[in-house]
Amino acid sequence: MENSKTYSRLIPILPALILILLPSLFAFSQETDPYATARERMVINDLLGRDITNRRVLEAMGTIKRHLFVAPRYASQAYADHPLPIGEGQTISQPYIVALMTQILDLRPGEKVLEIGTGSGYQAAVLSFFTDQVYSIEIRKRLAQEAGMRLKRLGYSKIMVKHGDGYFGWPEHAPFDAIIVTAAANHIPPPLMDQLKYGGRLLIPLGSTTYYQTLTKITKTREGSKVEHLIGVVFVPMIGKVLDR
Ligand code: SAH
Repeated sequence: MENSKTYSRLIPILPALILILLPSLFAFSQETDPYATARERMVINDLLGRDITNRRVLEAMGTIKRHLFVAPRYASQAYADHPLPIGEGQTISQPYIVALMTQILDLRPGEKVLEIGTGSGYQAAVLSFFTDQVYSIEIRKRLAQEAGMRLKRLGYSKIMVKHGDGYFGWPEHAPFDAIIVTAAANHIPPPLMDQLKYGGRLLIPLGSTTYYQTLTKITKTREGSKVEHLIGVVFVPMIGKVLDR
């Protein structure tokens, strides 16, 4: 009896109570994700404001917490329009480039994608928004180990990361619907073309490994390959076997 009286006394002041609690709820969400606003601003200004129009790509970029893929001292810059250091002289690509490459790949659920150059694991996480079958190879052992552990810790448990030279692809899991190379190469590694399905697409920054490159899309068909030169980009160089030529 006593209890129900207390509840009924609360009813008239309920709207006021909600109004009082709302800001603290908002503060709570800010506390659990202090970069939510910065990320939203990045999506609107740097992606939508340019030519990123794919709704799912915008959703992925607005959901995945880039600040958790960089060292804590760079977290406050994670949603700025530039690359950031990830150790070993390597960088996590500018958000716009990650979004653009993802938009161009246009992955469908169930498709199998291979990334060369895991780096921080961020691009792999973005790819996993579209398909469960993400494979990624990193040539620097420490980066491969760190990215593998980071992805597991953040709950991206289906992404497969391996340490090795991505020049040779990942034959055990071939053929792939899409291959994305996130390091600059002066030629297309033939094993990657071999491991691409007919109708599959390969995206690679092609050109000088020390200056800038042209983001190039190759679509493999039974009649040959269709090559599209897209835009000028600057990536860290691909190393390993690719340098022999
Ligand atoms: N996609 C990454 C950034 C890539 S930076 C991210 O989202 O963070 C390019 C990465 O390619 C570097 O980590 C570099 O070590 C790696 N790399 C260079 N040559 C490689 C090769 N032959 N095979 C696999 N990874 C390579």
